[in-house]
Amino acid sequence: MTNTNNNLVVETENLIKLYGDGIETVRALNGVSFSIRAGEFVAVMGPSGSGKSTLLNMLGALDLPSSGMCKVAGQELAHVKDLDRFRSKTVGFVFQLHNLIPTLNAIENVEVPLQEEKMSDAARHARADALLNLVNLSDRKHFFPAQLSGGQRQRVAIARALANQPAMVLADEPTGNLDSKSTAEIMELMRRINREQGTTFIVVTHNPAVARAADRIVTVRDGKILRDEKIESVYLEDLKEFKETALGLALTEGNVPEEIRHLGLDGVAAPLRDVLKKI
Ligand code: ADP
Repeated sequence: MTNTNNNLVVETENLIKLYGDGIETVRALNGVSFSIRAGEFVAVMGPSGSGKSTLLNMLGALDLPSSGMCKVAGQELAHVKDLDRFRSKTVGFVFQLHNLIPTLNAIENVEVPLQEEKMSDAARHARADALLNLVNLSDRKHFFPAQLSGGQRQRVAIARALANQPAMVLADEPTGNLDSKSTAEIMELMRRINREQGTTFIVVTHNPAVARAADRIVTVRDGKILRDEKIESVYLEDLKEFKETALGLALTEGNVPEEIRHLGLDGVAAPLRDVLKKI
């Protein structure tokens, strides 16, 4: 794992990214200043065209900013000599489309990023094998992408992203093509890896359920950070909204509506009332 400065994996200051030829310039990022600590699980949300992919491209050292500071794993990207090498050592990528090589089986796909490493074939194979175990695909190691479900392909993509023990994994709509069951499984898997291995995750998503599984939600709008909230405060807002609904109002008064008595809320009505009254 690459060394991180002050435990920060990402540090940006007034990050600006312009596209275009000067006549028609797009400010894809318009002054982004924020940081992400090692081990955080951050969701990035925002409407289409707000700058999420551009931000991910900067953080993943796929592109350099027009101006401003962008430090990744303690290194100012503008000063990194070999961005390709830095990227492959520091960042793992997971995309909406898994981008697996169709002619390689699962284990061979996971071995791809390890080709540049000075390690024996056996060691490379053993590492890929361990990574597929980690993502619960031990029984599908020799399957080709076409023989795997969408969720299983994303598991292989996650194993591949982890191959070089990156400081962080950047995921762009990793569940965008999945049904809700596979979405929940992929989120659970990424959260487990985050917890067990301490890998930082930055996940761009349109799905509020995915975002709510993060520690923190950063909302981008017009190339700027509109909101940057810890998940606790997001939940608190949810509770405040709930309090204003018919059921919330009833529960705040300590009443369980007749129509939902059969749900067995009676036992929790008093503690719920106390909580809702406080917020
Ligand atoms: P998002 O990921 O939130 O949908 P993007 O980061 O892709 O947003 O795009 C932000 C803005 O920058 C948009 O207005 C988009 O049209 C523009 N943009 C993105 N990439 C390029 C590019 N390579 N050339 C010109 N404009 C671009």
